[in-house]
Amino acid sequence: MTVYDLHCHSTASDGTLTPAALVTRAIQRGVDCLAITDHDDISGLPEAHQASVGTSLRIVNGVELSSLWERRTIHVVGLFFDAESPVLQEALAAVRVARRQRAEAIAHALARTGIRGALEGARRFVTNEALISRLHFARFLVEQGHVSSKQKAFNRYLGQGKPAHVPPPWPAIAESIAVLHAAGGLAVLAHPGRYPLTDTAMRRLLEEFRDNGGDAIEVFSPSHTPQQSERFIEYARFYGFKASLGSDFHDPEESYIDLGVLPPLPAGLTPVWSALLPT
Ligand code: AMP
Ligand code: MN
Ligand code: MN
Ligand code: MN
Repeated sequence: MTVYDLHCHSTASDGTLTPAALVTRAIQRGVDCLAITDHDDISGLPEAHQASVGTSLRIVNGVELSSLWERRTIHVVGLFFDAESPVLQEALAAVRVARRQRAEAIAHALARTGIRGALEGARRFVTNEALISRLHFARFLVEQGHVSSKQKAFNRYLGQGKPAHVPPPWPAIAESIAVLHAAGGLAVLAHPGRYPLTDTAMRRLLEEFRDNGGDAIEVFSPSHTPQQSERFIEYARFYGFKASLGSDFHDPEESYIDLGVLPPLPAGLTPVWSALLPT
């Protein structure tokens, strides 16, 4: 059986392992095919491809696009695209500029709660100068003892409705899907169970994702309970989505599950890799 993991993060965004270290770890964990899906950045891909040469691991191009739907952040994983696509590269560069501006606004908001030096503090955790994420702020807030865990950093400061929450400046999901298609890739709705939506709103999201050309949804993700995985397997069948899966691995200590620790896709679903790779 071929083991796929089509969602994880490297030092090119908010993961703590380099792309080459992810490749080594994936091989050790028995992964056969890995997509490194950094947030809004594909600069780690050449290193990953290079590191996989002559090994049993196949690297496929991946990215995780921060996107907006009904004013909420929704993540769209892109797979199998041409990394040289100017449309994709320009879209990613624009989001990274927006991330820098948002980081300044987050730091100002934290200063208003009495926490100074947050931008410099978060930047100490940044591993790709072009890419700053709220997770870097969360690591800073834990380091400085303002909170005891990253989860609490989101619950108390960085999350929706909290004092340092800044409206996310992402493109609409339709645009993210269009950019991925323009680059010859597929668009996958990431960890749908993570979004706090009513069942009606979830169906609306899935319909809109499908109507805008979305190709697949993640059915297995550490964000999902077994019940949620069952529900999204049903939804994939109902809406005609292909199925994807990924560990969303960020760090050996921080992450819930390791690379490749996912059940096989159930029969009757079309894997997202079906048209491109052997099953
Ligand atoms: P950003 O894309 O800059 O808004 O940052 C989001 C990142 O922060 C996600 O990719 C996760 O790595 C992390 N994150 C988001 N929410 C939480 C949470 N509640 N607890 C821990 N990490 C989180
Ligand atoms: Mn992340
Ligand atoms: Mn995500
Ligand atoms: Mn992710």
